[in-house]
Amino acid sequence: MALCSVCRRREAFYLRTYSGQRLCAACLRRTLERALRRSISEAGGLPPRSRVVVPVSFTSPHLSLALLDVAVRVERRFGSEVVGVVPREVEVEPEGASLPGEQGLSRLVRVSVPPPEEATLSECIRFDSAWSARVAESLGGNAVLLPLTLTDRVLAMLDSLILGEAWLASESLLSRSVGGVRVIHAFGTIEGEAVAAYAARMEVRAWSPCRVASPSKKVLYSVAYRRPELEYSALKTISRLAQLAGGFGVCRYCGGFTAGGGASVCPVCERLRPAERVRL
Ligand SMILES: [Zn+2]
Ligand SMILES: [Zn+2]
Repeated sequence: MALCSVCRRREAFYLRTYSGQRLCAACLRRTLERALRRSISEAGGLPPRSRVVVPVSFTSPHLSLALLDVAVRVERRFGSEVVGVVPREVEVEPEGASLPGEQGLSRLVRVSVPPPEEATLSECIRFDSAWSARVAESLGGNAVLLPLTLTDRVLAMLDSLILGEAWLASESLLSRSVGGVRVIHAFGTIEGEAVAAYAARMEVRAWSPCRVASPSKKVLYSVAYRRPELEYSALKTISRLAQLAGGFGVCRYCGGFTAGGGASVCPVCERLRPAERVRL
């Protein structure tokens, strides 16, 4: 049995392979709370007593449950309200179970948003950004937290390069604006593996009916078999690359880059029409 490298008291269950750090459940939770605070502050911060919307996303429904749990702990300290939003199309198991962090939510809202059967990672992020920003707007929210990780940001950047579509680079940015709503990739400063390890310990699970594919996933996972741990320079590199891809317009539905030509709606929203699909 290995002890946690941080508290040196409890048994560790998660090994951060790039740093060699071993974490127990409590120290991993604190690590995720710090990552969330850092993502929010790097995204420009939120005013105190904000109304923050945390949707169960189609891109990573299970990690969304971990985010609900962590967001409620972090936002309580800032006096913010956290509103959970669950699409009826997402399957939660066991049925009727209360969600992680549910007692700390100011509201739990159920919506209907039929998702596409399959989508690329970038398409799914745009789909989630658009419908959840629409819901946040109608609930008077200032921000949406999506459970996207540093690993997702790297995959989105690689996908954009592999597909030769620079306008898809916006999914690797840490945040975006849709109207008056800030959409923040809540775990965008920490590797996906850490969030997945935390989520795996929860008793509630969630599944999305949308199959999400990333052309780069095989490549990234083949480099570090099933544990593509990423460190800080990866984050700096992709942020810089995404800035280089700037100069595009911004889609008024999802906040992602448009394909150019003065368009105000991106090709993904034009095709999938996420904002029109959502029913409160
Ligand atoms: Zn510990
Ligand atoms: Zn769009």
